[in-house]
Amino acid sequence: MIEDKVIVSNQGMVRADFNFWVGRYLDKFFDNLENKRVIGNKCGKCGDVFVPPRKICGKCNIVIPLEENWIDLSDTGTLLNYTITPYRVNDRTHRKTKDLLLGMVQIDGSNTSIIYRLLDLKPGEVKIGMKVKIEWAEKPKGDPSDIKGFVKV
Ligand SMILES: [Zn+2]
Repeated sequence: MIEDKVIVSNQGMVRADFNFWVGRYLDKFFDNLENKRVIGNKCGKCGDVFVPPRKICGKCNIVIPLEENWIDLSDTGTLLNYTITPYRVNDRTHRKTKDLLLGMVQIDGSNTSIIYRLLDLKPGEVKIGMKVKIEWAEKPKGDPSDIKGFVKV
């Protein structure tokens, strides 16, 4: 007779390093971030500009070719919305002693938004519609952390 045995029981979270391929569109986007440049791509039908870039325009349901329709954009944008949280985005198990501000920012010339921390701002100073600018990492390396966050213009 074989008994069912529990060898190890662990109810906590498991941390594991992993790599994944972001695809050719995001790869190009991150390559440009490494040079402190923001690019988007434009739908050839409706004209919407996507940051980060997309392969397919969801509105028109057409493919935006990888080789075409890239647009150079600035590192400024408009705050569309924000939230205040005691948790880091990548670690929701530990509360920070200081609240973090996360902003949804529409880069100027684009029709979409990206979410990053709002730096050097206090909750009472944040207003929807305010102009913000990217604070770049000191040594960009071609990944999402090249943008440290956004600061007030
Ligand atoms: Zn479109």
